[in-house]
Amino acid sequence: MKTEPETLCPSAQPNWEGAQVFAVVGGTPDRPETAYLDQAQPVTDELLAMAAPVAPAEVFRFSAPCAKGACAHFDEGGQSCRLAEKTVRLAPVVFEKLPKCAIRNDCRWWKQEGVSACRRCPQVVTVNYDPSLEMRQAADPKVK
Ligand code: SF4
Repeated sequence: MKTEPETLCPSAQPNWEGAQVFAVVGGTPDRPETAYLDQAQPVTDELLAMAAPVAPAEVFRFSAPCAKGACAHFDEGGQSCRLAEKTVRLAPVVFEKLPKCAIRNDCRWWKQEGVSACRRCPQVVTVNYDPSLEMRQAADPKVK
């Protein structure tokens, strides 16, 4: 898969090439709250095992190089991430200040949507079996 190393997806899977963990999901199932690490960390077997018995992407947030047109969320015509655009359009603000985030300089969502993405980002869980209606719609590539 061709990637763009300088721009990172903040909702990646741990098995994607170049994946790093940059945050831990806490809070409750109804109100997830991401806590951002001071520095992104490499994905190791030990780290993935810490998530057991749930999937690592239920409790960690991973970044990886944006796959652009190879990703179902990417709008090839507009050259933008529709997941980021819909998260900003549909999800509520959950953090008024800019969260401290180790990947900000390279984050696709930040580059595209700015502070509006960061104010909503703490509620994002990459694997969520009971998401809010807004997050379900944002994550569904079929929803415009
Ligand atoms: S949207 Fe903002 S807070 Fe979320 S990963 Fe990107 S830079 Fe960090």
